[in-house]
Amino acid sequence: MSHFSYQNGVLHVENTSLTDIAKEFGSPTYVYSKAALTENFSAYANACKANGRDATTALVCYSVKSNSNLAVLNLLCRLGSGFDIVSGGELLRVIAAGGDPRKVIFSGVGKTHEEMRLALSHDILCFNVESTAELERLNQVAGDMGKQAPISLRVNPNVDAKTHPYISTGLKENKFGIAYDEALAAYRKAASLPHLRVVGIDCHIGSQLLDDAPLLEAFDRLTELVDRLAQEGIELHHVDIGGGIGINYNGDQPVAVGDYLARLFAKVDQWRLDQYKGAPIQLLFEPGRSIVGNAGVLVTEVEYLKHGDAKNFAIVNAAMNDLMRPAMYEAWHGVQAVQQRATAAQTYDVVGPVCESGDWLARDRALAIEQGDLLAIMSAGAYGMTMSSNYNTRGRAAEVMVDGDKVHLIRKREAASDLFALESTLP
Ligand SMILES: *Cc1c(COP(=O)(O)O)cnc(C)c1O
Repeated sequence: MSHFSYQNGVLHVENTSLTDIAKEFGSPTYVYSKAALTENFSAYANACKANGRDATTALVCYSVKSNSNLAVLNLLCRLGSGFDIVSGGELLRVIAAGGDPRKVIFSGVGKTHEEMRLALSHDILCFNVESTAELERLNQVAGDMGKQAPISLRVNPNVDAKTHPYISTGLKENKFGIAYDEALAAYRKAASLPHLRVVGIDCHIGSQLLDDAPLLEAFDRLTELVDRLAQEGIELHHVDIGGGIGINYNGDQPVAVGDYLARLFAKVDQWRLDQYKGAPIQLLFEPGRSIVGNAGVLVTEVEYLKHGDAKNFAIVNAAMNDLMRPAMYEAWHGVQAVQQRATAAQTYDVVGPVCESGDWLARDRALAIEQGDLLAIMSAGAYGMTMSSNYNTRGRAAEVMVDGDKVHLIRKREAASDLFALESTLP
């Protein structure tokens, strides 16, 4: 069910009109639907349950970088989620939101000494290690603290996720992970280091995948390694298949999460039966976009309409600093007029006020709008606010979460004074 719909000609999130939200909180404002978030997380949780899994055999670790607002993290944590983090800052966010560090996995190619110490001090579930140099550093940091670090190796299964090159991460030429052919040697090394405990294997092959075939193929490649390692006496406790399931931006038809998980669990069961007399293994998931992407919109106001010879522009008060995906990946976001008008539509490029030609949010859209109207940039819940910046000394947008007919402010709009509060002039 869509939680974004027109009621009496006005776009609503659940039972709250976006016009009312803009009146109360101004714009640009990110608006999330609690029901949509809950439903999207439940697609994973219910599929785990339906396939006979509990927390010891399947754990969903929401990818914090896709949307890290404390209210979002807190909601997911109450629904039972673990978390996939990529920085020490994200760990502190998870803890501030009430998340359990023992359900946290730490991904990323560049973990610092300090981040390792922080994560070890909170006894996180697992470090997803991306290089042998990182194994050595982690071993040393853990040794200094008198601890053993639980580790998984991020293996690059070299499958083509068939997505945008900037969000494809599982190919040989990417900076992520350890090459498939080098994985066994890296595991042997990890097993020989005294302050590491080898517990798992992981991959993350890309984002906005519409088909689960590449994920199932990656899973097969990982299990081959698990079997090889078992023969050498290195036994793994979990397989982490990463995130990556896509969402509908522009008529895209991503695989249903329930169908993907059912196929994956069937594979797991067959594999465990064939190789391990049915002994279970834990599956980890790191979804981001598929949980938050379609649960949020960015509301913005039309400042000016500019009619040119070649193009019409709708200049709005949101910009590339608020939503970077179009400028960065030429990403397509739906644009809907919040208030439907009976007048004829015209074709517009929707652009922001930032001084860059790359500052556009949408191109060639038919819109019936006037100056002062509100627009909703759709499917903006993932990689929207988290990728925002203060370019042009623009304060970041407010964020609100709708729950039925209630609206909660979950991040105040930044004031200009906030933006230079940490700066100082020369004496
Ligand atoms: C970004 C990221 C994810 C989440 O990807 P989605 O496509 O948003 O599901 C998961 N795991 C890792 C390691 C990531 O970097």
